[in-house]
Amino acid sequence: MAMLLDGRALAKTLRAQIQAEAEQWSQASGQIPTIALLRAGSDQALLSHARSVRRTFERAGFGFQEVELPAGSDTEALVEEVRRLNADPGVHGVLIQEPLPAGVDQSTVVEALDPIKDVDGVHPLNAGRLLQQRGRYHVSSTPLGGIAILEHYDIPIQGALAVVVGRSDIVGKPMALLLLHRHATVVVCHSRTRDLAEITRQADILCVAVGRARLITGDMVKPGATVIDFGINFVDGKLVGDVDFDTVAEKAGAITPVPGGTGPVTAAMLLRNTLQAARWQWGHHLP
Ligand code: NDP
Repeated sequence: MAMLLDGRALAKTLRAQIQAEAEQWSQASGQIPTIALLRAGSDQALLSHARSVRRTFERAGFGFQEVELPAGSDTEALVEEVRRLNADPGVHGVLIQEPLPAGVDQSTVVEALDPIKDVDGVHPLNAGRLLQQRGRYHVSSTPLGGIAILEHYDIPIQGALAVVVGRSDIVGKPMALLLLHRHATVVVCHSRTRDLAEITRQADILCVAVGRARLITGDMVKPGATVIDFGINFVDGKLVGDVDFDTVAEKAGAITPVPGGTGPVTAAMLLRNTLQAARWQWGHHLP
């Protein structure tokens, strides 16, 4: 049976560290690190994500704001709101919640965001700097959380064959880059990959961010592999990952459960990114 990679316990430790650093920063700067969530419309999934971010931020003593535009808002209205948040010194990080309304040009909205406030790492400047490892940049909190789990549990990354299933800008691609920068040999799979199982079966580290319940089954995993499941799916009202936990846990050496794996660590990393954004905006007077 695989070792359980307990994201809740790790997140608790990380939150305590981040909170202590934030308190120190707040004393020095007289400010509270604050995030704003921007959305158009009140889709249930967006509201539930916002509630969970609010809970994490308020518990940690961070600032939290929600900005909701009407469901039918156009690109111009969203860009105007993004510019207002860029100029607001009381807001350090901005999350643009997706999906945006049909017809909105997502790239225009994202590119309007000040990269220093882009705590999701989706602005092309942050994404490009991650690619090239140049200067300072924000990285999406979900892949950062995946790496934090691997490092906390001393899973060797250097030289390992890491397979990432999923190539989104927010999870799959940055996860692949973070692994590559840590000297893994990285293979990225997606919906057009031929014979997915043949590839996943070779992975020492298998990271899955697809959004399909139980896509990865025990027969697709190498004995002893480490499996990081980013999936969030609701099946019959129950939260399940992209990995079929029961069959994979029998084969793998280590696995993140869902819930209680990558989710809580992602939330902790969003706090860290917001504190980082606040520090960068405050200038060079780091406490
Ligand atoms: P996207 O829908 O943006 O991307 C899904 C990726 O999976 C795409 O690259 C797609 O390929 C690929 N894919 C789809 N079907 C298959 C298949 N049958 N075989 C192989 N690859 C496939 O999703 P996200 O990256 O935003 O999210 C992925 C999952 O992670 C979701 O469940 C989401 O809820 C969750 N998530 C979890 C977070 C956390 O904190 N744990 C945070 C953010 C997301 P193609 O590019 O070819 O279309």
